[in-house]
Amino acid sequence: MPDNIKELRAALLQRREDLTGLSALSAGSRDAVELDQSRVGRLSRMDALQQQEMAKASESQRSQQVARIDAALARIASGDFGYCLDCGEEIAAKRLAVDPATPLCIDCASGR
Ligand SMILES: [Zn+2]
Repeated sequence: MPDNIKELRAALLQRREDLTGLSALSAGSRDAVELDQSRVGRLSRMDALQQQEMAKASESQRSQQVARIDAALARIASGDFGYCLDCGEEIAAKRLAVDPATPLCIDCASGR
């Protein structure tokens, strides 16, 4: 386990909180189209649909990131954190500092 595991864990929890906070905020914009359907024109309805699609896309991206963070937190709990899921080598501390949720070492991530 990396020496700065506590910091990395705190960073993961913070990131998770930011992501779930954003989800709550954007929940409103995902529902907006149905609510406004009756009173918006065709063009602005298309805009609204487009916005809804974008909101959905970023929401699914966010939930993927949350899942990735949860997996990293689970590895911390089980003591496997900091080792590449693919080759088992230690993941470089610098790499973890940039993205503590990364499950792969640089070699495996770059498709060696
Ligand atoms: Zn690896």
